[in-house]
Amino acid sequence: MNDDQLLRYSRHILLHEFGIEGQEKLLAAHALVIGAGGLGSPAAMYLASAGVGRITLCDGDSVDLTNLQRQILHTTAAVGRAKAYSGKDTLAQINPEVEVVAISERVEGEKLAQLVASADLVLDCSDNFATRHAVNRACVHSRKPLVSGAAVRFDGQVSVFDLRDAEAPCYNCLFPEDSEPEETRCAVMGVFAPLTGIIGAVQAAEALKLLAGAGESLSGRLLLLECLKMEWRPVRLHKDPDCKVCGRK
Ligand SMILES: [Zn+2]
Repeated sequence: MNDDQLLRYSRHILLHEFGIEGQEKLLAAHALVIGAGGLGSPAAMYLASAGVGRITLCDGDSVDLTNLQRQILHTTAAVGRAKAYSGKDTLAQINPEVEVVAISERVEGEKLAQLVASADLVLDCSDNFATRHAVNRACVHSRKPLVSGAAVRFDGQVSVFDLRDAEAPCYNCLFPEDSEPEETRCAVMGVFAPLTGIIGAVQAAEALKLLAGAGESLSGRLLLLECLKMEWRPVRLHKDPDCKVCGRK
């Protein structure tokens, strides 16, 4: 690290759990962020400000006026622009040292598999079950840690599926694809603005801890947040041995 980097990251370097070594791990890391909306905004901003060396930001949507209430990566001037590029510009302003790769499409199939395989860690900041399951399958296949968040109305949830560990549960163990509740998307349901900030920031915290090798992750635990009462509730998660994605074949 040069002198500017030592200053820019000094408040992380001062943390014993991070130190120079942890910061260097962040600088060498590649995080894949799926979704540049309410969750992806704070998550990507903290990854960039903290110096994660390479961030791939995927989103197929454009910035809409209704997004600005909570999607803090995007400004009023960005309305109509692709979220991936608007997000990349904001991240460059926060930290020009970070390499941001913007992908303005809803990645799926082989491209998603390749992106996941190339990353050290994946943050699922999407807003629909189809994407969540596709990302989970790719993470199970490549054995990559998946930091998953969701937020709608006043309710949020966040967890880590550390799929490097064969005994860890996956997203499908928790929400099997064939028994899905009706989808409630904030596109139609309403969402409390800071809720997405809280959940996205927890995703960033878990991602940075995992990349730097600090502390203990949320793997095996799901945190549920009821924002109207500001109550957090932890739920233990277990691997489903018959899970169609990560279970015995
Ligand atoms: Zn599973």
